[in-house]
Amino acid sequence: MKLWVLGSGSSGNAVLLETARSRILVDAGFAPRVLKRRLAVADVPPESIDAVVVTHEHTDHVKGVAAAARKWGWTIVSTAGTRMMCPDWAELRTILTPRKSSVVVGDFHLETVPVSHDANEPMAVIVTSIGEGSRAGIVYDLGHVTESLLRALDKLDLLVIEANHDEGMLRAGPYPPSLQARIRGKFGHLSNRDAAQAASQSIHSGLNNIVLAHLSEKNNTPRTALGTVGDSLRRARFKGRLTAASQDNVIGPICVGSASVPAAPLQLALGI
Ligand SMILES: [Zn+2]
Ligand SMILES: [Zn+2]
Repeated sequence: MKLWVLGSGSSGNAVLLETARSRILVDAGFAPRVLKRRLAVADVPPESIDAVVVTHEHTDHVKGVAAAARKWGWTIVSTAGTRMMCPDWAELRTILTPRKSSVVVGDFHLETVPVSHDANEPMAVIVTSIGEGSRAGIVYDLGHVTESLLRALDKLDLLVIEANHDEGMLRAGPYPPSLQARIRGKFGHLSNRDAAQAASQSIHSGLNNIVLAHLSEKNNTPRTALGTVGDSLRRARFKGRLTAASQDNVIGPICVGSASVPAAPLQLALGI
């Protein structure tokens, strides 16, 4: 299984997963023309995508979903609660997955885990390649990490985790106090420190790639996020690659599987 982050941040999110037989997106928070351009970087025709899995209804995750699904014949997969917030999906073929459920889409097994975020029924997604058994977790837009989520992140080969803000930069930054409180609240976004803690707790011998996602352009920088999370991972003796995703550039391909990265000291990458 290969993973590409087509873009991640408050202006749009989309993650591509592919095997030899199937392709899915997790979120499509860009207009179809932008999705098409970024998929071209991965050499993927949009019509070849089987489904788009939508984590929640915020614009930076759904912006292109309805139009792209109609244009290129994608199935939309999401929770009933998210679907309720997106009336323009009405005429589309939609598989509704209740909370804490699992579903097979093409070559992938999807597990959903509820997360705390100010949306109707937001979720994290664990994607397993049925043929290879490799597992990737996509965890962003959440205010804090629960025990049940941590348990679901057990035995991943790759973890995509939100590192939205540096706490000091958020405090000193341009956002008004009410917005700052929303971001750092229980239903907001994970800080670099939160990401460091969750990533460190997910380490096992098979986890060889961690990708930091949904970085704020105002309250974080890739170097700051990599520094904070990298320090923590080094202390936890993580052996693998830590990468920061980008709002504007495609990151990938990252091979998801045990043989993809040799066991070596922590490597930091601003992009691949
Ligand atoms: Zn978001
Ligand atoms: Zn959100």
